Amino acid sequence: MSINIEAYHSIMNFTASFNVLLVAVSKTKPNEDISELYHLGHRDFGENYVQELLKKQAELPQDIRWHFIGHLQTNKVKQIAPFVHLIHGVDSIKLLQEIDKVGAKLQKKISCLLQLHIATEETKFGFDKAEVLDTAMLYFKEGKYPNVQLCGLMGMASFTADEKQVQHEFQLLNSIFNEIKKDKSGDDKNFNILSMGMSNDYKIAVESGSNLIRIGSMLFGSRK
Ligand SMILES: *Cc1c(COP(=O)(O)O)cnc(C)c1O
Repeated sequence: MSINIEAYHSIMNFTASFNVLLVAVSKTKPNEDISELYHLGHRDFGENYVQELLKKQAELPQDIRWHFIGHLQTNKVKQIAPFVHLIHGVDSIKLLQEIDKVGAKLQKKISCLLQLHIATEETKFGFDKAEVLDTAMLYFKEGKYPNVQLCGLMGMASFTADEKQVQHEFQLLNSIFNEIKKDKSGDDKNFNILSMGMSNDYKIAVESGSNLIRIGSMLFGSRK
């Protein structure tokens, strides 16, 4: 088990020219693989499962920035809230409310992205456009969820070989992101992350406006 250093360098070259952040998605992969990237200077890692994240966070260097990119159950927010760098998959008001509540207890703002459902598949979690605009309005204009730092949007394209379809979905998300920046977030410069793109579609994502890509299998090999 080891990482694909060549792929890492080629992605880093790509991201450098576009000013994009790479989150290395290490779910199901051992600490040794993470350490290997860590020693190359990489600090941003993404995980999907709370138990696995807690274990890795305890065992690995404390300056790793952990991104939670999976579907988060409300009853598990408090376990990751003390250390998590960014929660990407906020996909319901109930979850947002719970994160706000936990943030209040910890007396800190917890950084979050709202997840939009842009794919054609039924299974993917997320808000629709109207819900996201509504939530952004409540947050930016009415001061709702004061213990949340709303940093941007996240989405996953359909699992398809049709690049036009994928591009269309990413462009849709980008346009909603820009609409919120223009009409709602005002002077709040923290709303500046558009998280989209994985191993198979990150180039299309970046061409469509992404500034954070989440890449797993291309770096760490395929998962079981
Ligand atoms: C697993 C996962 C990724 C990484 O996917 P790869 O295809 O392995 O690059 C990115 N984002 C989310 C939300 C994931 O669950």
